[in-house]
Amino acid sequence: MEFFPLFLRLQGERCLVVGGGEVAARKTELLLKANAQVVVVAPETGTDISALEEQNSLRVLRRSFVTEDLDDCRIVIAATADGELNHRIADEAGERNILVNVVDDPDACSFIMPAILDRSPMVAAISSSGASPLLARALRARLESLIPASYGRLARLAGDFRDAVKTHLPAGPARRHFWEQVLEGPIAELVHGGREDEAREQLQHALANADDLATGEVYLVGAGPGDPDLLTFRALRLMQKADVVLHDRLVSPAVLQLVRRDAERIYVGKARACHALRQQEINALLVKLAREGKRALRLKGGDPFIFGRGGEEIETLAENGIPFQVVPGITAASGCAAYAGIPLTHRDHARSCVFVTGHLKDGNVNLAWDRLVARDQTLVFYMSLVGLPVIAEKLVEYGLPENTPAALIEQGTTPQQRVLEGTLATLPEIAVQAEARAPTLLIVGGVVKLRGQLRWFEGAD
Ligand code: SAH
Repeated sequence: MEFFPLFLRLQGERCLVVGGGEVAARKTELLLKANAQVVVVAPETGTDISALEEQNSLRVLRRSFVTEDLDDCRIVIAATADGELNHRIADEAGERNILVNVVDDPDACSFIMPAILDRSPMVAAISSSGASPLLARALRARLESLIPASYGRLARLAGDFRDAVKTHLPAGPARRHFWEQVLEGPIAELVHGGREDEAREQLQHALANADDLATGEVYLVGAGPGDPDLLTFRALRLMQKADVVLHDRLVSPAVLQLVRRDAERIYVGKARACHALRQQEINALLVKLAREGKRALRLKGGDPFIFGRGGEEIETLAENGIPFQVVPGITAASGCAAYAGIPLTHRDHARSCVFVTGHLKDGNVNLAWDRLVARDQTLVFYMSLVGLPVIAEKLVEYGLPENTPAALIEQGTTPQQRVLEGTLATLPEIAVQAEARAPTLLIVGGVVKLRGQLRWFEGAD
């Protein structure tokens, strides 16, 4: 950030504008809006300044700038057509520690004027740090159309109730939830619709009944396989609302970045055989957080109900009467297959697709192998890197040809995605050679071959 944005109180402060043209008039007008005590110095002034002079308490000194004009100034704007004079003003202001703006010369400025969106008391300031004021104004125009004029009234209403809410509700989630319900719910709609008196009454009523809002909630949210673009709108909305987020190894950093910035983050681990918190502990923690009135978001890789133990987590919540929502996510099979160019089903190659866990336990993968080796079926193995040699061996033992195509997708959908392709006979060794690392997904079946034909985007691996 080249310039730090802040909002300056200028009421009654002496602010100097040097210059009498149109630009000087525009700046003067803005300063007057902030109730500054503006002094304009210029030997000659255009019609704009004269018009402002008629309507406002503005002092115009029709003479050349002298150093003493800077006395007692809070800020100065050098807006003359004379570059040398502008620089002299900047230097002299700088020596006196007065904030200075030289129009059209960001390098000479100690502050710059943003494009302002004024819904007082709500004010947005937009700046391109001097790189392109036009772009800043274009952005303001877009915001203008998004933010109704009534936002100012809404902010005033909130301001009027601020102290009352502070005394009624403790700082923290309870108070924040109260305000969110007011500012995003029916009360805000009343203000936008011009029915401020009713809004005031309802806000009073809501505050008297605010204790009802005390229970928290749990969101069980699928974060998808890694690429943040694969999040659902609902997931993103709840990620922006949560007070605390519990995440594990499978949730990518790019996705975590989208969580509300001041939400507390708790890592609950779950790497194979090294669980930071055991499942029951996670379940209990979710209950505890909700009881504290928090909105706890359990962010899970892929889809919470596909090898995600989401079922167990909501069971505990239901037993304890905690309200919850489940938000589906794109599971690793869909994400990895799409990004690797492998259709999971295809009329000529696979009429069914089975998702199984390839988790190795005591050196074995316990599965109904005879059913898995059915013809025209795609097999997707989750958690299968360690068990890969056993899985390949079993599938062949139960009747799949050794040359059945198979692919291992590592860190699917992320920029680090790798696709290792081979057959049941060759893939285990290929994985060792390539030093494959979790998370990986194994896809077995004729559809893997289609990858060569369907590589519709470059750099798929
Ligand atoms: N609920 C998750 C699965 C959790 S089980 C889902 O719906 O996707 C964890 C397994 O998912 C990993 O062992 C791996 O097999 C698979 N997995 C998850 N994300 C992956 C990714 N980005 N790339 C490859 N495999 C992934």
